[in-house]
Amino acid sequence: AVEAVRVHKNFGPLQVLRGVDLRVEPGEVCCIIGPSGSGKSTFLRCINHLERIDAGRLYVDGQPVGYAERGGRLYELTERKVARQRRQVGMVFQRFNLFGHLTALENVMEAPIQVDRKSKETARREACALLEQVGLTNRQNAYPTQLSGGQQQRVAIARALAMQPKLMLFDEPTSALDPELVGEVLDVMRQLARDGMTMVVVTHEMGFAREIADNLVFMDGGAVVESGLPTALLTNPTHPRTQDFLAKVL
Ligand code: ATP
Ligand code: MG
Repeated sequence: AVEAVRVHKNFGPLQVLRGVDLRVEPGEVCCIIGPSGSGKSTFLRCINHLERIDAGRLYVDGQPVGYAERGGRLYELTERKVARQRRQVGMVFQRFNLFGHLTALENVMEAPIQVDRKSKETARREACALLEQVGLTNRQNAYPTQLSGGQQQRVAIARALAMQPKLMLFDEPTSALDPELVGEVLDVMRQLARDGMTMVVVTHEMGFAREIADNLVFMDGGAVVESGLPTALLTNPTHPRTQDFLAKVL
């Protein structure tokens, strides 16, 4: 679960997040839409502690992100503990960020071996199962350059799942793909959602958001303007800024 309460983030004088409030319950899929520059990626990066928030509160699974809570006070986590916390959260970006010198299978095996100290055999067995889950059994020995964008994104999802995350973050995972490759990635995400994974998905795919989101969130100007059931938000937005945005993208 994710709980954000009045989360603020500045880059120097630029106020990028100005009080984001958001809750994602376990097993829920939350889709975030909004104009470019509204702070969607920054917010995802805060959830993963790739950015540190300047004010407000941010919890993943009841734990303050980047901090430990003792006796009502917050203590900054050490690098090591931040890394441990981050491992519970899988992230898939817009750009494929696979290791180019490793095969699909090796990409998925990497973290379980290096970070979790799993044996090669265990890591291989689990990686094979994950590649099967994303429909890539027959491509497991291919290198990233030998894979299509859609296949690379599916490897990236399998790689994130290999760390058994409690939460998956997706930042426009299909927006760098050729249109004919979008469906295969969305299919994998759809299945993941059905399997009960808690997900926060920044997306421009309105059809997809409508279909899988339990909660659809419209962000603008660094805050949540409006949120609710996708059918309600998409057909009956109440805020003028939501109406404006939807008029442009639908
Ligand atoms: P898009 O839809 O284009 O991906 P976004 O909603 O994801 O946009 P962000 O990437 O979160 O928006 O950026 C929000 C604002 O913060 C932008 O004005 C951006 O230029 C700025 N910003 C993001 N990262 C940094 C950084 N590391 N340093 C300075 N400014 C940044
Ligand atoms: Mg972004």
